[in-house]
Amino acid sequence: MSHLETDLIHQGRAFNDSKAVVTPIYQTSTYYADEDLQQYIVAATETKHPTFYHRHGNPTNSQAAAILASLEKTEDALLLATGMAAISTAILAVVKQGDHVVTQNSLYSGAMLFFKEFLSDYGVTVTHVDQTDNAAFEHAIQQNTKLIYVETPSNPNLDVTDLEYIGQLGKKHGITTMVDNTFASPINQTPSDYGIDIIVHSATKYLGGHSDLTAGAICGSKEFIHKAWRRSLVLGASLSPFDSWLLLRGMKTLSMRVKQINSNALALAKWFEKHPAIKHVAYIGLRSHPQYELVAEQMRGGTGMLCIEILGDDDQAYQHAQQVLNKLQIFANAASLGGVESLVVHPASMWGSHHDKSQKKTSGITPGMLRISVGIEHIDDLIGDFEGALEGIG
Ligand SMILES: *Cc1c(COP(=O)(O)O)cnc(C)c1O
Repeated sequence: MSHLETDLIHQGRAFNDSKAVVTPIYQTSTYYADEDLQQYIVAATETKHPTFYHRHGNPTNSQAAAILASLEKTEDALLLATGMAAISTAILAVVKQGDHVVTQNSLYSGAMLFFKEFLSDYGVTVTHVDQTDNAAFEHAIQQNTKLIYVETPSNPNLDVTDLEYIGQLGKKHGITTMVDNTFASPINQTPSDYGIDIIVHSATKYLGGHSDLTAGAICGSKEFIHKAWRRSLVLGASLSPFDSWLLLRGMKTLSMRVKQINSNALALAKWFEKHPAIKHVAYIGLRSHPQYELVAEQMRGGTGMLCIEILGDDDQAYQHAQQVLNKLQIFANAASLGGVESLVVHPASMWGSHHDKSQKKTSGITPGMLRISVGIEHIDDLIGDFEGALEGIG
């Protein structure tokens, strides 16, 4: 077994049958059936066969999937067109009408929508619990619970779920466990080390890393990936060969990028802690984070995600947050995260349509909160940008 940094570049070479050092983009929907009939039947039915028809598989996708499986230490992986495609396809490969799911109060907004609106329409019930309270997960388990779905650290308020506890809870009750590992990335966290069954990703974020593609990944056992693949054949959210190629290119530098991002984010978080205009900094790499011990146990780095709370009571804090957004020069106000460039969003205004007031409260979104995705720029420039934008507040 080679190391992760090496796997990122070389894993899955078997799917490149050309002499090109860089995997070609197999920009084709279909493949010649010039082998004997028996082999063609195999191609038509085998899980993720790379050379039958695009919805079934593609050599570029197979190579990227091989890397994902090795990063997450799972038997296999399936790549799809977006993170939400991966999440919805994976969940629909676990639950059916009459089943129950236990999940968290704080989740990525798309996953929240899927649990609240989609699953309930199809007869699957869901209980949301406080992810920082281990016992709450066990209390919520019912006879028909088929899935425990967690996200850690969570989007946007960076609460952490105890992966070892969840992995054991699933095993104890015979319930499938699934983790959205997008924020951590495989560089900072390996859920399968704790017995988690299925790992999902928005590869749009750190894995791709350049804000130039959307993709999603499901990592799990061969048996589960086969099930998820069967679902994906009818749901149809295949990853395009070009986006898959961009993902392969992006992943080569994943380790370097994430390490630089971890270091920048920690330095920025420490600087925020001392700034008078900042009421609160939520960064899992800070000793002040209430779950710092758990983070130190289950993670290798703090990620590039942090949230700050600007000074002021509700309305004033809202205005201050907007003002800071407008003044920032390097941090761009844009959705998404995990790219080489630093981004910032104001969740209270961005997620107005997905969350009502009480949902915002339970998911921890406050008027003066800014969510920051730190990139790989020079740390002095990043600090300087906020220094200018915060001037006159506090
Ligand atoms: C962005 C994101 C998703 C959804 O991914 P898409 O690629 O946008 O579909 C899911 N989970 C988390 C934690 C995310 O940040």
